[in-house]
Amino acid sequence: MLVENLEQINQEIQLACQKAQRSDNDVTMIAVTKSVGNDRAKELAELGIEDMAENRVDKLLEKKMALENFSSIKWHLIGNLQRRKVKLVINEIDYFHALDSLSLAEEIQKRAEKQISCFVEVNITGEESKHGFKSNEVLDFIHQLAAFDKIKVVGLMTMAPLDASEQVLHKVFSELKNLQEAVNNLHLSYAPCTELSMGMSNDFPIAIEEGATFVRIGTAIFRGA
Ligand SMILES: *Cc1c(COP(=O)(O)O)cnc(C)c1O
Repeated sequence: MLVENLEQINQEIQLACQKAQRSDNDVTMIAVTKSVGNDRAKELAELGIEDMAENRVDKLLEKKMALENFSSIKWHLIGNLQRRKVKLVINEIDYFHALDSLSLAEEIQKRAEKQISCFVEVNITGEESKHGFKSNEVLDFIHQLAAFDKIKVVGLMTMAPLDASEQVLHKVFSELKNLQEAVNNLHLSYAPCTELSMGMSNDFPIAIEEGATFVRIGTAIFRGA
């Protein structure tokens, strides 16, 4: 049942917050609906979930249309975004979690009608298969965004390696936290960088212990439900 799964996840979030002496008000669970249809997403909305994510543009637009009655939902695009699709989606979302190149930033700047809350994606472990900046490229990139008044860097995002040990996960997430603080300490008006989008079904308690403010959860919500 969805309700039980959500309750379970909520308890794990609270436990992780207690362990880290953080307030659970500072952690937002984003429901990733990419593996389910509109009906399941609607059930979540009826249960009061207000942050929804998709990793593909067409799916996000479809879900948003199907759930148009739930006007308080915030829509998060969490996946890689191709330049040619920016104009279709950029004015339909509340958060974009995968800003990973200057050319994408340029396209967003061109197409956005208002300032967009973005997370800069970081590839902490440098895996070839992954999107995102290497850790040592992040500060330079953020400085380059100074002229882009449509982009607000609200935080950093990462995806941890699959099947990593707990020790490695702690290390990856704490590195992202350190980078986030480094950007935050620059006191740039366009890059408050107060948020950390990290943690998925398999690793969100560890991400929360290391400072996640947004966790992106799919599988754990729909498992057996
Ligand atoms: C699918 C996806 C998630 C959710 O992953 P689960 O393991 O199903 O919780 C989170 N973030 C991104 C970028 C995704 O593509």
